[in-house]
Amino acid sequence: MNFDACEVIALNGLPSEQQQRFSDWLQKGYSAQMSYLRRFADKRADPRLMLRDGAKTAVIVLFSYNTKWQQPQRLPQVSRYAYGMDYHELLKKKLWALLKILQQENPKLRGRTFTDSAPLQERYWAATAGLGWIGKNGMLINKQLGSYVYIGTLLLNAEVEVAPPVQVKNCCGTCTRCIEACPTQAIVDNALVDARKCWSYKTIEAHTCEKNAASDENFGQPKYIFGCDICQNACPWNKKAAVVQHDEMQILPLLQTLTHEDWLAMSAEDFEKNFEHSAIKRATLEGIKRNVSKQ
Ligand code: SF4
Ligand code: SF4
Repeated sequence: MNFDACEVIALNGLPSEQQQRFSDWLQKGYSAQMSYLRRFADKRADPRLMLRDGAKTAVIVLFSYNTKWQQPQRLPQVSRYAYGMDYHELLKKKLWALLKILQQENPKLRGRTFTDSAPLQERYWAATAGLGWIGKNGMLINKQLGSYVYIGTLLLNAEVEVAPPVQVKNCCGTCTRCIEACPTQAIVDNALVDARKCWSYKTIEAHTCEKNAASDENFGQPKYIFGCDICQNACPWNKKAAVVQHDEMQILPLLQTLTHEDWLAMSAEDFEKNFEHSAIKRATLEGIKRNVSKQ
């Protein structure tokens, strides 16, 4: 399964200050048109409700995508997390395999796997488990791995005896590089990102989330056609992060060759075929073409 880090914690409800922080973020409109973030507030506040018979334990894993691969700079850029296989598929498969192994020991064990797909505050829980801290850019930062990591969670219906997690000190210190690097001033406060200004939202989610709402097309000239890595690239913790060799994260060969013209000429059938197992499909071809045409 080769995860890069793993911690196990006993689950509790989300502390009230963390709930308040999230609802303030929503109240201020920073979630833009991602209305799905307002759903399942009960489960978000208490992840124990995610399993029918009550989740008691969370196994939280990190899987790095800090690989050696890099798109040529002359080509339209895609955020690094989408270079390889779709992380939703990948992490879920790995966590499922882990559950199967645990079930060999305890056949009554039940579990559910999550990665960026449910009302679970994954970064908060990963930090709570001692896997890192939440940086000023809102990302989880692990001292060894940096922030180019996927977070996966396996919730279990059984209690497991584990030592209390050792919290990792926030090591951002006086650094403000991510805030200064952000081209749209989307980092509005410590670990608070206004999605309405963030290219990561604008180039991926906005196209579908704003279909039926007033769409703010005025988001400048994005440097990426899918996502944005600028604040993470600026982070000193990523400069010293371990480079991993995960075959699953090997860059899709097409991303090494597709030009602006190629993207604009791509048919819906080709897009589907090319990105069937890629996170890029979330942005839709129409959305990507819009982003390409803005560059
Ligand atoms: S992802 Fe890009 S636009 Fe969003 S906060 Fe980071 S640097 Fe700014
Ligand atoms: S760039 Fe600096 S302030 Fe921003 S997340 Fe990294 S260490 Fe923290």
